[in-house]
Amino acid sequence: MAIRKDTKFWLSFLLLIATSSASAFARGEYQTALELYGKKQYFPAAQYFETASLSDPANVSANYYAGYSFYLAGHRNEAITSFWRLAKAFPARKEGAQALLYLRQIDPNFANHEANKSQTSEAKNVSNASVEPKLSAKAIVDRLVEVKPSAGKNPNVTPSFTRLVKDLLVAMPTPVLRLLLDRGGRIVLVSSAVEHDMRIQNTAPRGWDSSFSWKESPALTQGSKVVMSQFRADSRTGEPVSTIEEIGVLRHETGHAVDYCLGEFSDSAEFKHAYALEAAKVPDEHRQKLDYYLQKSNNGASETFAELYCYSTGGETDAGRKDSSELVHKYFPHCEQLMIKRLAALEK
Ligand SMILES: [Zn+2]
Repeated sequence: MAIRKDTKFWLSFLLLIATSSASAFARGEYQTALELYGKKQYFPAAQYFETASLSDPANVSANYYAGYSFYLAGHRNEAITSFWRLAKAFPARKEGAQALLYLRQIDPNFANHEANKSQTSEAKNVSNASVEPKLSAKAIVDRLVEVKPSAGKNPNVTPSFTRLVKDLLVAMPTPVLRLLLDRGGRIVLVSSAVEHDMRIQNTAPRGWDSSFSWKESPALTQGSKVVMSQFRADSRTGEPVSTIEEIGVLRHETGHAVDYCLGEFSDSAEFKHAYALEAAKVPDEHRQKLDYYLQKSNNGASETFAELYCYSTGGETDAGRKDSSELVHKYFPHCEQLMIKRLAALEK
């Protein structure tokens, strides 16, 4: 809270100075922003991009990177505000269209937003989803799952992999699947995470962000969108390996998307309180094994929620993850109860 207030003050102060020589000033801001972005200092970069964008609204690039850097820095509300400004002002520009695509993933109120009504047919589908008669779990899953053709040398996602994913999803509670569909959620299947542009690489400045650990990751979540790949890069050799044995991780990632669609339930006072009490009680012998779920900041609670969701919908399939999943279930019973209660409330 304090940070956002300071930011506003700081921005208006800079804008006051900027009025005298707006565009020269904005150019300086933009340069500073680029340098910070290059050093992956996303929050300060976002502030400079935002200032440059506000003092020179024609600079679509500054506006785009303001939104994007706020997003990378974890300041979602600022990202949403910045992206909407761009999407409304420049709907026909590549950056404006890209901002709208991004908003669809990160703005929980996207479907209700006035500005998207006439812009994309996809957006219309999202806002119509909730008024449709009740669909079966299978019909919902068919709409949630999107298979991307391979763009590189990898073979396409195989029909058997797609079937496996769909079966796994159909087994999840139908009201949860409906929630995902209503909020514009997607389960995107790709051949390899390397091909899938998780960070809008095409519009990123060249030479930056060139190493992505997501190449080695079988699945990822961005807001209400989950990307699952059939192949990932082996962390030692870089060679593609099948993710089929770790398919259970899709349940964990879907847990993050569900958490997002619930307005970050893992960040609610109720959940965080239960989490803090239970995290403190994890015995020393298992703390190392559960370090991912005991992370400081909000990550620990968020990862715990995702893993409890995974556990309750069938669990992990990879041997190593199975062990820690059992332990999360064992040591966070109250968190699990709260999650189950919250999901049960969706049926009403
Ligand atoms: Zn996670």
